[in-house]
Amino acid sequence: MAQHVDVVVIGAGAAGLFCGIETAKRGRSVLVIDHANKAGKKILMSGGGRCNFTNMDVTPAHFLSQNPHFVRSALSRYTQWDFIGLVASHGIDYHEKELGQLFCDHSAKDIQQMLLTELAQADGQLSLDTHIQAIAYENQKYQLQTSVGLVTSGSLVVATGGLSIPTMGASDFGFKIAKQFGHSVLNYRASLVPFTWNNADKSTWSALSGLSVDVQVSAVNGETFGLPLLITHRGLSGPAMLQISNYWQPGEHLIVNWLPTLDVAEKVAEDRHHSGKKQLKTWLGQYLPARLAEHFCQWLALNKTLAELSKGDVAILSEALNCWTFKPGGTEGYRTAEVTLGGVDTQHISSKTMMSQLQPQLFFVGEVLDVTGWLGGYNFQWAWSSGWAAGQVC
Ligand SMILES: Cc1cc2nc3c(=O)[nH]c(=O)nc-3n(C[C@H](O)[C@H](O)[C@H](O)COP(=O)(O)OP(=O)(O)OC[C@H]3O[C@@H](n4cnc5c(N)ncnc54)[C@H](O)[C@@H]3O)c2cc1C
Repeated sequence: MAQHVDVVVIGAGAAGLFCGIETAKRGRSVLVIDHANKAGKKILMSGGGRCNFTNMDVTPAHFLSQNPHFVRSALSRYTQWDFIGLVASHGIDYHEKELGQLFCDHSAKDIQQMLLTELAQADGQLSLDTHIQAIAYENQKYQLQTSVGLVTSGSLVVATGGLSIPTMGASDFGFKIAKQFGHSVLNYRASLVPFTWNNADKSTWSALSGLSVDVQVSAVNGETFGLPLLITHRGLSGPAMLQISNYWQPGEHLIVNWLPTLDVAEKVAEDRHHSGKKQLKTWLGQYLPARLAEHFCQWLALNKTLAELSKGDVAILSEALNCWTFKPGGTEGYRTAEVTLGGVDTQHISSKTMMSQLQPQLFFVGEVLDVTGWLGGYNFQWAWSSGWAAGQVC
């Protein structure tokens, strides 16, 4: 026998659970379906197991989308302060790590449990391990053929997220549903992701793996972040690289300033008067980890004292340190990416309700949409805000 509910939500991740909660609180019958065996798997693995669930400074400028205004309405109607209030009302302890990023003191499980408790209290149903074979829309009803039988609903919310971490249940099902009902899907790619070496840099740099340095990194479009960079065997990672990956296109280069607070040419000119006998390696070691200082001297063949540096040497040194051009071989892809950049085009989606303007009672929430946040709790805030917006009307 078919099961009928007012609303089916596909995807029991951050956005789907939140939308399900808000919908159920309005007295609507809701079924949240997921093909995974656990709800909110990405919540559990997020923020190094502590879930960076929002940020104290959330503005539309922290998000990328073909339509940069799309996020405004939802972010202003359900804010970070609303979500922080919910977290506090569940007695979950949290702290600011840095840059406004809020993490659980104890575990990301607290956030997952909070969502499951809220859903159960509002009488929302959850169906895990449930596979959807086909979706049709007939007689103003959605009909879903699933592994547990036919499910029908008046509204359908697509909350299937992006493609990152395929082992956690990520799929392109949401993109397929969007296309089925006439929506376009913009080009998408792995983002908030580490970069891999090109062949030439790999041999020069990978021996330095494990080093972390505060740098400034810029993309071709001028977007710049001052944050730690981590050298790995595979390439460059750390917050600086993850952030800039949102603004990088395959084939482009990045500019790394290894000493953002120091104009190298100026400082050499100043110091060579009183410290001319100092080895460059020792001088650089004041500002960079010793291994990295040594690496630059060897790589640039500048095993000299400050006084011995020619004008040309200083130019080479300052270019390598203040303006190093890095051409990534690529990225680590969906295997380690935190998000998918791009996705369902927002052009025919209401920014107030997340409802399709092409198909009755069809909604898209969370990462499946062409909305990508910066690193720092922004992607979860988008999941809460967009899930909440749809949950008021679906
Ligand atoms: C390692 C990692 C760490 C992260 N850390 C943070 C962080 O600290 N802060 C932050 O803001 N963001 C973080 N993110 C990003 C954040 O997790 C996502 O942006 C967010 O989870 C998106 O929510 P969503 O509900 O749209 O999608 P998801 O949370 O991905 O949920 C989608 C759900 O849909 C289900 N699904 C997919 N296909 C189907 C299908 N065919 N049938 C049924 N169900 C399906 C999936 O199983 C999943 O449960 C991190 C991401 C990763 C991978």
